[in-house]
Amino acid sequence: MTESTMLLVGLAVLGLAVGSFLNVCIHRLPHGRSIVQPPSNCPHCGYVLRWYDNFPVLSYAMLGGKCRQCRASISLRYPIIELVTMAIFVVHVVVLGPDIILVPRLVFACALIVLFAIDLEHHLLPNVITLPGVVVGLAFSLMLPPGIVDALIGAIAGGGVLWLVGEAYFRYSGVEGMGGGDVKMLAMIGAFLGWKLMVLTLVLSSILGSVVGVLVLAIRRGGMKYALPYGTFLSLAALVASLFGARILDWYLGFYR
Ligand SMILES: [Zn+2]
Repeated sequence: MTESTMLLVGLAVLGLAVGSFLNVCIHRLPHGRSIVQPPSNCPHCGYVLRWYDNFPVLSYAMLGGKCRQCRASISLRYPIIELVTMAIFVVHVVVLGPDIILVPRLVFACALIVLFAIDLEHHLLPNVITLPGVVVGLAFSLMLPPGIVDALIGAIAGGGVLWLVGEAYFRYSGVEGMGGGDVKMLAMIGAFLGWKLMVLTLVLSSILGSVVGVLVLAIRRGGMKYALPYGTFLSLAALVASLFGARILDWYLGFYR
């Protein structure tokens, strides 16, 4: 095997293992439970998972998606998150190359996966992810791109912009528009990616949100209620910005040269 193949395979395996841990976060964080204790168990019968029940995807497949003891169904979310995490890890190394920037970007991607899944199910973006996310993003930016100045501007502007939009919407309509979670999440995005890619994320998420919104309206006819919470769009847009943002900006700004 060549070195790059080994890195690819290594990151694929790491992605599966990390995905398994992200499942625990997604399952427990919305309820404010510890992600360390107790060990994973079946929510139906309390069966404590053994080490051989914990192989990502494989265990699920071998058990036919059922608890070893009581045969209750295990959510398909578990293998899906593991496979998605693996795929995202592999795409990162393909797109960004074997570069030290992989470290912060993979950490960032993990946070986005967890936020996406929790927001989708609970309409919630937990502070225990977004707030440490801001700090970790800034810490990485002390040494790595986008650099601390870009990151600080990104975090402050990112949080500020959405806060202003939410505040204006609230004054105007009396309805809480943006959750506070969105504000903190965009601050985190700014801290990891810097202000330029944070702005790009905002634009991409609006486009994505509009497209999906129109599709939902067309299919359901009426029903102005959002089908998906904004954090899910922010997650997808931030992932695209993290991977392809530099190229998108180059392409876009190229028109003005
Ligand atoms: Zn069980």
